[in-house]
Amino acid sequence: MTRLLLTLLLSIPNARSAAGADEQVIRVAIARNVKQFRLNTSADAFLVETKTGQRYQLLARSVYEVKYISPSSLAVAGQTLESPVRILAGNGGDAIRMNGRHYKGDIYLRTNGAEKLEVVEHLPVEDYLCGVLPAEMSPDWPLEALKAQAVASRTYALKKSDPKKDYDMTDGVDTQVYSGASGTNERIRKAVESTRGEVLVYRGRLVTAFFHACCGGHTAAASSAWGEEVVKPLFGVRDPYCAVSNHYRWDFYATTRDLLSFIQSRGSSAMKIKRIRVHKRDRTGRASALKFATDAAPFIVSAVELRKAFGTYDIRSTLITRVDPVKGGYEFSGRGWGHGVGMCQDGAKAMAYKGASYRRILKHYYPGARISGLSGEAR
Ligand SMILES: [Zn+2]
Repeated sequence: MTRLLLTLLLSIPNARSAAGADEQVIRVAIARNVKQFRLNTSADAFLVETKTGQRYQLLARSVYEVKYISPSSLAVAGQTLESPVRILAGNGGDAIRMNGRHYKGDIYLRTNGAEKLEVVEHLPVEDYLCGVLPAEMSPDWPLEALKAQAVASRTYALKKSDPKKDYDMTDGVDTQVYSGASGTNERIRKAVESTRGEVLVYRGRLVTAFFHACCGGHTAAASSAWGEEVVKPLFGVRDPYCAVSNHYRWDFYATTRDLLSFIQSRGSSAMKIKRIRVHKRDRTGRASALKFATDAAPFIVSAVELRKAFGTYDIRSTLITRVDPVKGGYEFSGRGWGHGVGMCQDGAKAMAYKGASYRRILKHYYPGARISGLSGEAR
């Protein structure tokens, strides 16, 4: 049942600080652009209006309704508070539940410019990784693959950290998936702890350590279109390891009617498609453009755009190997899953099963990058 807020006049006992002095903090948006939501507590917690210092107690095992009120205020359990509001766990442990996930809690609730609420968790990078690995790999994968993922994810998060923004990472696929304190286990903690502080560095700077499900035999070159520095560790490498993966090959069927409306919506005056073929490939074998021969002028479209339009789950990569006419449409065949840049997770798994260490895995997928302790290295 919904509780009311209790004002707390004493100072907060045993409130956890966000991190030890030596540990970097990652700010993860665990909810964005929500008008209201329910906050469940599993342990005692505290609420602090950061501007006034006014404190409130949240009782364990209770439900609190949180609502947007105005650009500068929000309400918790019907009481209007000045934004931002901080939630601190009382004595460690999982304090807060949202959307079925647990969070340990140094959490900020704040209004944003779009008249909605943002919920941002601040936590030490090592704790953050314990919530990334189960979502981005799987707790039952070989330990050396999990360790490689820990180093890649740590590097990526720290590279993307930007104090000028309201948060560093989202919890979704647009950065890397984070599932809170749920889902972690002993193996995950071991993978994170045994690589503590280790990051990938190239020429004194952190590498934007992209990764993806399966490269299909050759990793892709990072695109300058992503606004990233394209450095040697992200040029792309041949990968003999992921051929055993279930994601190594894919096929996708599209009807002629859907393909025709796709090119028409992008300006083609064609009424008929005669043939489709890969028009251009990049150095790593990925299709950069496809050419549609039609009854009007030929139409050229980027593979990225085609993939976006038909769904990245269906056209799993731009490593399109063939396009064949079939009854009523076309069959696209390709290899791999994902953008293909950086570490191939299925390849990392196969390497680990063959006995490779996480250092060897990282050296293979990020050639030229050095594994370094965090201290003393620049971003
Ligand atoms: Zn691969």
